[in-house]
Amino acid sequence: MSDNPSFVLRAVEDVVYEDRPIPDIFDDEVLVEVKKTGICGSDVHYLTHGRIADFVVEKPMVLGHESSGIVSKVGKKVKNVKVGDRVAMEPGATCRVCEDCKRGKYELCPDIVFAATPPYDGTLARYYRIPSDLAYKLPDNLTLEDGAMMEPLSVAIHSVANIAGLRSNQNVVVFGAGPVGLLCMAVAKALGASRVIAVDIVKERLDFAKSYAATETYVPPPFQAGESRIQYSQRNAQQMRDQLGIEDRGPKAIDLVVDASGAEVSIQTGILIARTGGTYVQVGMGTPEVTIPITLLLIKEITFKGSFRYGPGDYALAIALAAQGKIDLKPLITHRFAFNEAIEAFKTTKAGKSADGKGVIKAVISGPDVSPNDF
Ligand SMILES: [Zn+2]
Ligand SMILES: [Zn+2]
Repeated sequence: MSDNPSFVLRAVEDVVYEDRPIPDIFDDEVLVEVKKTGICGSDVHYLTHGRIADFVVEKPMVLGHESSGIVSKVGKKVKNVKVGDRVAMEPGATCRVCEDCKRGKYELCPDIVFAATPPYDGTLARYYRIPSDLAYKLPDNLTLEDGAMMEPLSVAIHSVANIAGLRSNQNVVVFGAGPVGLLCMAVAKALGASRVIAVDIVKERLDFAKSYAATETYVPPPFQAGESRIQYSQRNAQQMRDQLGIEDRGPKAIDLVVDASGAEVSIQTGILIARTGGTYVQVGMGTPEVTIPITLLLIKEITFKGSFRYGPGDYALAIALAAQGKIDLKPLITHRFAFNEAIEAFKTTKAGKSADGKGVIKAVISGPDVSPNDF
């Protein structure tokens, strides 16, 4: 252990490699040598805007939070992993004593130390230290890339399995076919959903969704001149009902709507399309304030819920479903970069495609001195 090269965001559109000290660990922590890190929309957003909601980058911060690696050092009290273990890293260390931690909703902990959320450093470095219980040993049939994908998969698990409580044979609509939307579809399918309908405005994304986990796809129509957003959404919902044979009750009704797009018209359409007594879950971050058809929500007794990151059991279920072969993460990794190509990885993710025209679902950056071809 000689150095700890780190990919640091100093200000908007200003990133550099810095050699940071190798972190010291406490007795209940592990030091992980980071091998694979997926790039998330939030990482790109910090790079281009310097903030997300109230989280503002005010001092230099290491980027990255979707990581896996190999345990290189363990504290005296650590029992669950040992040096050399391949692990997925859950990137949010919580306080464990606040009311949210104690009632099993640790994702709401006000004192969470979350990787690459200001002011806390992320995982795009050679070393990252975490409490040992957040290092999950990977089964032999999963790769380190699979391990990095446990982060976005856990977001999907949290929303579909935990917050929505999806049951087998239910019908699901997912708005947005980006990485989290696709993973929500995959979780719905793995849990035995009957219909998994993917909605997106980009046809190529829907083609992929259909090949991956969706049973049906739907492309919303363009706006008409003079139409308000809610008028558009009403027309859109009606077109969905007609095209896909969706009803408000019975076996053709939509039990669960998941919005992974954050777009106002998707949110409106989702509430319109959900069945009487159905559930709506917001997992996509987008338009911060929207108009929703609240009377309809009341009349239909729709359960409307937010879903943030992941909580107790979500990482474990993500790893289990992937290890059992019920969710295949490999098709989602479209681009691979070496550590010294991190800027290129961010540019490609932001552009949505590489120079050769290939669309990005997930770009993965390897750790220092790790080959991108070594999964
Ligand atoms: Zn992420
Ligand atoms: Zn707490």
